[in-house]
Amino acid sequence: MNTQTAPITVVPTQVALEGGGFQIRRAFPVAGLSYFDPILLIDEMGPVTYGPGEAIGAPDHPHRGFETVTYVIDGAMEHEDSHGHRGALRPGDVQWMTAGAGVIHSEMPAAEIMRDGGRVHGFQIWVNLPQAQKLATPRYQEYPSASLPIVQGAGTWARVIAGELDGRRSPIETTVPTTMVHVKLDANARISIPVAPGSNAIVHTIGGEARIADTRLADHSAALIASAPAQLELSAEGNGFEALVLAGMPLNEPVARYGPFVMNTREEIEQAFRDYQAGRFGEIARTN
Ligand code: MN
Repeated sequence: MNTQTAPITVVPTQVALEGGGFQIRRAFPVAGLSYFDPILLIDEMGPVTYGPGEAIGAPDHPHRGFETVTYVIDGAMEHEDSHGHRGALRPGDVQWMTAGAGVIHSEMPAAEIMRDGGRVHGFQIWVNLPQAQKLATPRYQEYPSASLPIVQGAGTWARVIAGELDGRRSPIETTVPTTMVHVKLDANARISIPVAPGSNAIVHTIGGEARIADTRLADHSAALIASAPAQLELSAEGNGFEALVLAGMPLNEPVARYGPFVMNTREEIEQAFRDYQAGRFGEIARTN
């Protein structure tokens, strides 16, 4: 029996402005909660509907020492980086970028959304890298929705972005054991999501209400489950439930973070600034 005994903390997801001023909803980082090892940040982008010329993105900026994950639910995003990677993400697509030693990238709404407006909804997640891999060669994994498993059951729908569900495995290769599943449950439906035992798990509510063991999860909140059991049991309350479920094995290493850099020591952060300012992260080669 998969009894859920792990301590669960429910925190609000707060609206904030990020990057060039786009609206996000986040459980952390906020004052008093910097990260939930190994997850450094979880931002729900929007949902927001832009008018023509109103859309905002995150133009050229650096990262070092961790991985950024972008998952699009509505709208479209375009990315390019200083290692020559570029791609367009449509609904259901995922990009898993290992910044490692350093990249400069831009993350913008697609040109047609910049021009005509439209609805934008998705997630950006930062996953920390272990000390030994913080300066790894940058890597870029991008998968269209068609290559990500969809698992459906009685009143349940789930897209497996990372990890495995019902024997269906995502093609994404993660550095630390990581699970990421987008779930939609009809009223009273339940789902069990396997995670690596001992993971720290997050259930970020997209809409509706649910129960995790004896804990109720309301809209605009997230559950943080420390040292999670092997199966996360979710059951929808009310009219149904939609969430992003995320779990990662904690690194238990010191975290020094400043803006776009996440290292183990303050000296390594200062080195990151020096390397970035010296142009060692390269630049984005643009053809137009
Ligand atoms: Mn970025």
